[in-house]
Amino acid sequence: MIDTHAHLGKVIFGADPLTPEKLIAFMDTYGIEKSVILPLVNPEEEHYFYTTEQALEDCRSYPDRFIPFVNVDPRRGSNDGNYDFYPLIKEYVDQGCKGFGEILANLPAHDKRLKGIYKACGALGLPVLPDFRYATSTNGVIDQIGMPYLEEVLCEFPQTIIIGHGPSFWAEIAADVPGIQENYPKGKVEKPGRVDYLLEHYPNLWADLSAMSGYNALARDLDYAKRFLEKHYRKLLFGTDYFVGNQEPHIIDLLNNVGLSSSIKQRIFRKNAEELLKL
Ligand SMILES: [Zn+2]
Repeated sequence: MIDTHAHLGKVIFGADPLTPEKLIAFMDTYGIEKSVILPLVNPEEEHYFYTTEQALEDCRSYPDRFIPFVNVDPRRGSNDGNYDFYPLIKEYVDQGCKGFGEILANLPAHDKRLKGIYKACGALGLPVLPDFRYATSTNGVIDQIGMPYLEEVLCEFPQTIIIGHGPSFWAEIAADVPGIQENYPKGKVEKPGRVDYLLEHYPNLWADLSAMSGYNALARDLDYAKRFLEKHYRKLLFGTDYFVGNQEPHIIDLLNNVGLSSSIKQRIFRKNAEELLKL
């Protein structure tokens, strides 16, 4: 398996840092061969930064186990929406980074500064991973119910692959979105939501199934989850969002027991990541 969403380092005040050795022990327990390491560089999220430089260093220590992403705060440079992120991000790509994220900056998804990042990443062939939240959140990339900002981005940057992730993204698995205060809505999916529509209509939208948000979206209605996974399996990525060292990856059991064929499971657990990240 390839975990497309993991973290390392000391990011939470008072918590022990997640060392490479601890993450590898977790990976070995569950049969994960490689993990994508996502830097955290936006000041709204967590208490300490874990920079791209740290990710590159940790990945160099375990090149067979870790895959580095680059992360740059969108307010760097001129902070006016005109900054050219391409040279900065390319320098990290030249050092081995395979994707961009995760973005937790508390800006609207269609903010001009974020668009500068989507543009550079499209030109560099890097997928971009934002953590989507609704407008009331004080961290994470903001969208409205129905994800109009995300759709604007998908239209404007067809070369840029966006990996959907986070509570507001996955709340939209159902058409009936209960409201912006409910991060993990429960109940049957009576009618497919905007996630289904956008995955169907935009080749540049993918999604990762990590964290409580991805798990909850599937676990709330397993019959619908099976249909959803069978419809979109070519653009779905297994992930855990492991970052504090005590999470159980319930998503593994769910994917193994929901009734998928072995070839679909292979795509979600591994092959899609290999192709997307050109491993
Ligand atoms: Zn994460």
